[in-house]
Amino acid sequence: MSGNTRFRLGVDLGGTKIEIAALDSSGRFALRERVPTPQRDYAGTIAAIQTLVQMAKDRLGADGPVGIAIPGATSPATGLIKNANSTWLIGKPFEQDLSEALQRPVRLANDANCFALSEAVDGAAQGFGLVFGIIAGTGIGGGIVFERKVRTGPHAIAGEWGHNPLPWPKRDEQPGALCYCGKHGCIETWLAGPSLSRLYREASGRQASPLEIAGAAKLGEPAAQEALDAWLDRFARALAGVVNILDPDVIVLGGGLSNLDVLTESLPARLQPYVFSDSVATPIRRAAFGDSSGVRGAAWLWD
Ligand SMILES: [Zn+2]
Repeated sequence: MSGNTRFRLGVDLGGTKIEIAALDSSGRFALRERVPTPQRDYAGTIAAIQTLVQMAKDRLGADGPVGIAIPGATSPATGLIKNANSTWLIGKPFEQDLSEALQRPVRLANDANCFALSEAVDGAAQGFGLVFGIIAGTGIGGGIVFERKVRTGPHAIAGEWGHNPLPWPKRDEQPGALCYCGKHGCIETWLAGPSLSRLYREASGRQASPLEIAGAAKLGEPAAQEALDAWLDRFARALAGVVNILDPDVIVLGGGLSNLDVLTESLPARLQPYVFSDSVATPIRRAAFGDSSGVRGAAWLWD
């Protein structure tokens, strides 16, 4: 590796903003900047990343390799982007194009994987061997890190539990809503934030955000309690499916829904009846770095 590699460079490419961070050797931010994501503009997206990387070079002399968190994955079969909700990236040789534009090596990884890596290195999952990281917000993602290394898998889908079906479905949960992936009843369609709002609307006739619903449930509002109960039970069933296969040392929750205290408070007990074990003690923790985990994990990709 040539150049100034004193700083680790990470870029988080999100749907609305692109952020760059340079971490010093102790993991502290030496630089952090963000710009809006050029919408539906592939060349513009590359140019925006180029500008941010050049900024890090100008200010810090950082010219080492760059890790990039993307909302999708590079298909190992084709080298092209797949599964991206920033759809203008799909089918593009993004890693190669970026490497040419930045004139340095780049590593791309799914943003949920970067999240799990960030928390595993020096966040809420620090010191644990096998980490399952969850991003729960308007979608449901997941990533697996073992011994501080991202497990990507030969199809780059390791940890993608959101597009498995909801386990132990009840009669009224079949077939479940149509998911954008083409299947019915995916975990993501049951657990993403809008689903909790929908449950509450059905029970109460009112529209509310997940945070508002959790707050109302705490105050004893029956409709909110009912919606939250149903949602948490599904969350526990979905997560039990992961624990039965992976048996992680720790589970870390990130994304907007991780702001619901009730998740980390009630999931451990709710897991018990569904996990194939006499007892379940898997720690479930809220992310330490919040929404800066993507950019931090991206920087750690070159660790
Ligand atoms: Zn799906």
